[in-house]
Amino acid sequence: MRLENKVALITGGSSGIGKAAALLFAQEGAQVVIADVDVAGGEALVEVIGHQGGQATFVKADVSQAKDCADMISAAEQTFGKLDILFNNAGIMDSQDDTAETTTESTWDRTMDINVKGVWLGCKYGIPALRRAGGGSIINVASFVAKLGAATAQIAYTTSKGAVLSMTRELAVIHARENIRVNALCPGPLRTELLMKFLNTEAKKQRRLVHIPMGRFGEAEEIAKAALFLASDDSSFMTGAELLIDGGITAAYVTPE
Ligand code: NAD
Repeated sequence: MRLENKVALITGGSSGIGKAAALLFAQEGAQVVIADVDVAGGEALVEVIGHQGGQATFVKADVSQAKDCADMISAAEQTFGKLDILFNNAGIMDSQDDTAETTTESTWDRTMDINVKGVWLGCKYGIPALRRAGGGSIINVASFVAKLGAATAQIAYTTSKGAVLSMTRELAVIHARENIRVNALCPGPLRTELLMKFLNTEAKKQRRLVHIPMGRFGEAEEIAKAALFLASDDSSFMTGAELLIDGGITAAYVTPE
């Protein structure tokens, strides 16, 4: 088991990538804290993990709120005694997110509050806990859209994911000597609720699929496996990295420097 004796906190753990990671991390021996605004989904997942012989707990937390983030980290330490892995995965793609001209200020602010401030707040309260545990691994979820222009307008989302990548780099450098590794995942388009709600017509789905060399959407489980690699000691010399898991999109469109 690759996460034996580790405690992992996963934000946005009630659905999609976070849910797949919670199941996988628990199967690999981790004690898992699921933090999400979706209480029903999170509590149901705790039960499933329990039935599978794993250990998990749920804490209601909105990652855009400082108090909730402080409380979720405390919950991890109080329930399982420490924190080793912080998976900053929660994120939104607002259905009103569009071009620079048409996107509203409230969509912009909500996207930045959850996708960027939420990652920072996770780190603000999570880093002291990781330090108390003697080090650990932080995994931040960005997106392939931080690396190249998206075919569907989503200005706030794209900007937020660029910020996650630059935040990840600085965190990695600042905390490298403390045995705290910080890496980012850049998933391509996935068949999760987040994207399927946004690409809400067949035409929009096809427009996105045209750009994916593999010709299909990715699955949450495929990203969870990469998160497991970054969470575990298998990636012990990796920090500040951006792991692309995108069915070949960026290879097709980004020119090497
Ligand atoms: P999802 O919608 O299936 O799951 C996201 C989870 O985050 C949900 O359980 C939701 O309740 C939770 N959440 C939303 N706002 C929250 C908040 N303020 N506080 C706490 N929890 C909150 O989405 P997903 O596809 O699994 O996305 C997970 C991450 O992956 C996001 O950061 C997303 O931007 C990123 N991502 C997704 C795709 C994709 O195609 N689906 C591609 C690249 C990156």
